[in-house]
Amino acid sequence: MRTLLIAGNWKLNPTSTEAAAALAEGVKNGLGSATDVHVALAPPFVFLTKVDQVLEGSPIGLAAQDIYWEPNGAFTGEISGPMLVDVGCTHVIIGHSERRHGMGETNAQVNAKLKAALAAKLIPIVCIGETKDERLAEKTEEVLLEQLTGSLAGLSAEEAAGVVLAYEPVWAIGTGLTATPEQAQAVHAHIRSWLSQVFGEATAARVVVQYGGSVKADNAVQLLGCPDIDGALVGGASLKAADFLAIIKAGQEVTARGKS
Ligand code: PEP
Repeated sequence: MRTLLIAGNWKLNPTSTEAAAALAEGVKNGLGSATDVHVALAPPFVFLTKVDQVLEGSPIGLAAQDIYWEPNGAFTGEISGPMLVDVGCTHVIIGHSERRHGMGETNAQVNAKLKAALAAKLIPIVCIGETKDERLAEKTEEVLLEQLTGSLAGLSAEEAAGVVLAYEPVWAIGTGLTATPEQAQAVHAHIRSWLSQVFGEATAARVVVQYGGSVKADNAVQLLGCPDIDGALVGGASLKAADFLAIIKAGQEVTARGKS
């Protein structure tokens, strides 16, 4: 049985250390010591140290929003795996669509970042997903195959088992549009079947595959209740502690009643 992972991607928010600390504090207080659902927060790099301090004593994981593939050297502006570990990170988001489409990040770069995360013993959250045009052209499976093959190239089954995948249809991110539970489940089942073909059934059964794209309190129970959806990567709704806690609560409800 996979434990749900609900992660909050704060993106380029908030704009002060004080506000970041207050948001983390709100989530920490609301969650308490519960571990029935795994939770992680992904603040901007500059707030990681402060949020790590706030989260002390809490089971909440700390995620970075990106990583560079080299550990150190002449790479102005980049942040490496050892640096993220040093400031308390447990997870790292890799290949978010805003980086793939906004900054031109390629599958080869995602793959290099994934290997750097694994080398640093960070839990990687690798994002994949099709654009609206690709879905309308019925190319979703083709695009995902290319992203999965390129992003996870060269991994052993054991390494793959420790990767979290986040299926995030680009057309659903920050738009208020959400894949229906049926649409999302169909893609998640397809992803798991690819994992099974490449890494074996036992590994595929261990991989946590999150859904992301306008997840909110009112759609979370249905999405998280799907058999192959193992959590959520949440953007907008992670910026208010109460909204994010309501999604966590949905995950706890689904966990308590068990999946079909
Ligand atoms: C995201 O940033 O990964 C995301 C899914 O954003 P939102 O929840 O706002 O759609």
